[in-house]
Amino acid sequence: MSNKITFVPISYTGWDSLEHLVSEVERLNASNILIVTDPFLEELGMTNKIIEPLQAQGWKTSVYTEVVPEPPLEVGEKLVAFTKEHKFDLVIGLGGGSALDLAKLAGVLATHEGKVADYLNLTGNRTLTHKGIPKILIPTTSGTGSEVTNISVLSLESSKDVVTHDYLLPDVAIVDPALTTSLPPKVTAATGIDALTHAIESYVSKNANPVTDALALQAIRLISGSIRTAVADGENKEARMDMSYGSYLAGLSFFNAGVAGVHALAYPLGGQFHISHGESNAVLLPYVMGYIRQSCEKRMKDILEAMGFSSNQFSQEEASLKCIEELKKLVADVGIPLSLKEFGIQEEALDSLADDGIKQKRILARSPMLLEREDIFAIYQAAFK
Ligand code: NAD
Repeated sequence: MSNKITFVPISYTGWDSLEHLVSEVERLNASNILIVTDPFLEELGMTNKIIEPLQAQGWKTSVYTEVVPEPPLEVGEKLVAFTKEHKFDLVIGLGGGSALDLAKLAGVLATHEGKVADYLNLTGNRTLTHKGIPKILIPTTSGTGSEVTNISVLSLESSKDVVTHDYLLPDVAIVDPALTTSLPPKVTAATGIDALTHAIESYVSKNANPVTDALALQAIRLISGSIRTAVADGENKEARMDMSYGSYLAGLSFFNAGVAGVHALAYPLGGQFHISHGESNAVLLPYVMGYIRQSCEKRMKDILEAMGFSSNQFSQEEASLKCIEELKKLVADVGIPLSLKEFGIQEEALDSLADDGIKQKRILARSPMLLEREDIFAIYQAAFK
């Protein structure tokens, strides 16, 4: 069996790595630049950190701030229409996964016919044919790994769908933890557990291989070791570094090995109840892993070790059970509820959640245990209680 491993061509990582932006824009030969971000980041003054050095070179910059969290399809359509109207030669995405995903779409679809809806994975009927204009992605959360993946996620009425193709990969990713110190504790927690979920799901994925394993285990070590500190003390430089490296590594890992059950079940929570992507993953993580535990006991023992616990005294089964307990503790310690009830979801909603969850066949295919609709319903039930 062979594995395809794809990485972003160039990444800059580490504190103040934003200093490489100007030389990369120069290398990409751009002078009319679209910056896609959200209004809150503009208010925070984050956009100025990007615009000022670019304008100092005499380059034209346009800032598009109509990004909203978990962007609906219409927000993507509007941005793509705007991008098509102008002759930008570079797109910079600055923000969390919501801004980065939209920047990727804008860059590729700027030079494609049709609408975003035409290219959706579940319902679209067109395929991307070329790369579009160059893209630089600069994450300001430590969560999605969008800066290194070929996916853009959009919210639909009852669930989520994606556009996915290697043409969505950026030319450059700049992962500067200094941009994350302003993240409030709640967003640090949700996005951090999102990154941990990427690492865990890709480690137990049917498509895992030794390269993605190495990336995933290091991501689990960094994130589980530092997320509590990053939530409690957002200015802690070491914790922020660990979280940024952790989410970057987890992104590389899941992009190549895939995510599975947690994400498939999280999408309907986001779509139907507008729960953030990070919280949707967090509330489901222990229950999905608990349900599939027996299909990946050995791997869960490795995860327990990567979380900093010795498993020598445990059998594989005991270690996998302890792993679930430690995941529950971690989610609770960073302040995320461990029950769907606490998100205001009624028991009657579980059926329609399961109906939408089972539609995510492409994602569910990587689960180490086959998940049918009745399994999905049982997992939502466990998470409800
Ligand atoms: P987000 O981009 O929605 O941002 C969440 C909130 O945090 C926003 O209000 C934003 O303004 C704020 N914020 C961002 N950076 C900040 C900072 N440094 N300081 C203060 N506030 C800041 O959140 P996210 O979790 O990063 O992204 C979620 C989106 O990414 C969802 O649509 C999800 O489906 C998608 N996603 C994409 C991928 C991928 O591979 N493309 C993977 C996972 C999730």
